[in-house]
Amino acid sequence: MMDVYASITELKGVGEKRARSLSKAGINTVNDLLSFYPRTYLDWSRAYGIGSAPLNENVCVRAFVGSVVREHVIRKGMTTYSFDITDGRDVMAVTFFNNKYVGSMLKTGEEYLFYGKITTLGRGYKSMTSPKFVKADSSVALKPVYPQTSELNSNYFEKLIASALGNVGVIPDCIPESVRNDYCLMSRDDAIRNIHFPASPDLLSEAKRRISFEELFLLQVGLSRLKIKSRKATAYSLEKDYSEEFCALLPFKLTGAQKRAIADCTADMSSGVPMNRLLQGDVGSGKTAVSAALVYNAVRNGFQAAIMAPTEVLARQHYNTFTRFFSGTGITVGILTGSVSAKEKREIKDKLASGEINLIVGTHAIIQKDVVFRNLGLAVTDEQHRFGVNQRGALGSKGKNPHTLVMSATPIPRTLSLIIYGDLDISILDEMPAGRQKTETYVVDYDKRERAYGYVKKHILSGYQGYIVCPLVDTDDDEEPDSERKASVKLYEELSSGFFKGFRLGLLYGKMKADEKKEIMAQFAAGDIDLLISTTVIEVGVDVPNAVIMVIENADCFGLSQLHQLRGRVGRGDVKSTCILISDIKNGQVKERLGILESTTDGFKIADEDLKLRGPGDFIGSRQHGLPDLKLTKMLTDSETVRETHYAAEKLLKNNPALEGEEYTQLKKRVNEMFSKGLVLN
Ligand code: ADP
Ligand code: MG
Repeated sequence: MMDVYASITELKGVGEKRARSLSKAGINTVNDLLSFYPRTYLDWSRAYGIGSAPLNENVCVRAFVGSVVREHVIRKGMTTYSFDITDGRDVMAVTFFNNKYVGSMLKTGEEYLFYGKITTLGRGYKSMTSPKFVKADSSVALKPVYPQTSELNSNYFEKLIASALGNVGVIPDCIPESVRNDYCLMSRDDAIRNIHFPASPDLLSEAKRRISFEELFLLQVGLSRLKIKSRKATAYSLEKDYSEEFCALLPFKLTGAQKRAIADCTADMSSGVPMNRLLQGDVGSGKTAVSAALVYNAVRNGFQAAIMAPTEVLARQHYNTFTRFFSGTGITVGILTGSVSAKEKREIKDKLASGEINLIVGTHAIIQKDVVFRNLGLAVTDEQHRFGVNQRGALGSKGKNPHTLVMSATPIPRTLSLIIYGDLDISILDEMPAGRQKTETYVVDYDKRERAYGYVKKHILSGYQGYIVCPLVDTDDDEEPDSERKASVKLYEELSSGFFKGFRLGLLYGKMKADEKKEIMAQFAAGDIDLLISTTVIEVGVDVPNAVIMVIENADCFGLSQLHQLRGRVGRGDVKSTCILISDIKNGQVKERLGILESTTDGFKIADEDLKLRGPGDFIGSRQHGLPDLKLTKMLTDSETVRETHYAAEKLLKNNPALEGEEYTQLKKRVNEMFSKGLVLN
């Protein structure tokens, strides 16, 4: 018997050339091949009569061949072969093109199953073109259809997988028997055989359930083990809690939620094992102050802290905020981003290594190899969803098991946070600072655009500032990487020479030089710009309380959560703010979707709607999350299975954290395989 982990080349008929084509499809071992699941199935189990079969969709018809094959040359190189089939009541034509072998394969008077689309030729006369067919007494029910690659077709995969299944013997199981019994799961052997060659529709759905469960279970076991693994001893325990002292530095009183989060974190940081926590809170809930309290505690207890933000703009802003918070305390703050000059960089790196700088704020520039700390005890990552798991880890590895806090403003449905943040403890800021007013939101048609702008003008004339967020242009086209810039420049030019002539307008887009961005943001924050025309670069974290009005063009092109994030740029002071969403799409569903933003400011509710409407892509990003690829990603929305697997994994690891014992060999092997890209478990 062949090992399931054997190389694909061990299979008969797989030479070097085929192996290369298979490898391109991600298939290197027999196990990879067996995990290459059908895209869909041709259902031969439900055979129609000619009269009752639906038109224009793939169906299976049971009928006798009722005539000889007629050969007809249409033109040079194009010959049709057609014949009639009948089920005893109706007659239908079947036609093949340039396929002279059908005649010899089909026998007049015998019964077959024909699989294909039926079209009508008028006057009740129906026809099927190039159907697949098998003898009526064959046992085939659901025939797998595999994703094609340019070099390998579905039939090739079907044959190869059938041959592999014939060679491997019983496929070992990776889900322990106790878990299988608890959740009534079929064995892996049954599941793999049935997902490729279903014995019945029922067994197929059981197989799919088992395979979904397996994939999520492996993921959850992997994440739980990461969590356990990170519980090493740390040298950075808080000897004394300085939170009270920090509060006295603040110009405001902390909310109850902020206090609770700080208490969660300081407890972690005093425990002797590294904190590994996610701080989740809607935009404007005050995550920065929480992180500042921890930084203060870390520095007062004698170790360094680092804060990493995803963009230059945010890093600058944090730098300013922390410098303000800590002025007069003797805490030294440094900044390290792409736009810092080489000379300054060198100085800052020296001061970090010597311990002269207590807190470094920056972009991913601070995880570069040559950045060395004297004693990094706390690593904070802001807007975590913008970074992958690996980048998050990179900051942590700059110290000897430092405490890590990741902050995210993207409210994530619980289901998904169990997946994305399965390795973290979670604190939630579910309370807004007092005096904060809800931002009024209106969805308006494009023809009200002028009125919306008039409203903006009124606010500017009263001394406030505003944002206009640029329409999203179709950027699927990689040939046109500049479209973001073009769209914003166009709008900026239109407005500065038109409706907002004489006002102080600013322009901000992603591809701008870091220095320019910095300059524009500084001017906006200082009140030297009235109206900022921007793309979604302002989405994360930007904090200018005097900006109280925002117009978002082509709002229908954005996801709800993204709109919610954008909207969070206003309503940051104690004045009532307004957000106007412009859409020229008359479609009722679109209006209803945007209407959710009119009716609620609860980020979690909005996130749930987004998950329902758009799937998980918006939350985990396609490439950035750093988690292993899940083949059946639609399962991410299968909250039931996510929860089941989460609890099953926790229960298993609680009793046996190291997964000792022979019955767990397969499980460990598969988990390691899943996390093999940079996340290997011991
Ligand atoms: P986010 O959670 O989106 O990162 P920030 O930390 O940027 O939010 O806080 C948003 C604004 O609220 C900032 O201007 C901050 O100074 C202010 N803020 C934070 N906490 C409080 C509080 N407890 N009371 C009043 N204002 C606060
Ligand atoms: Mg923030």
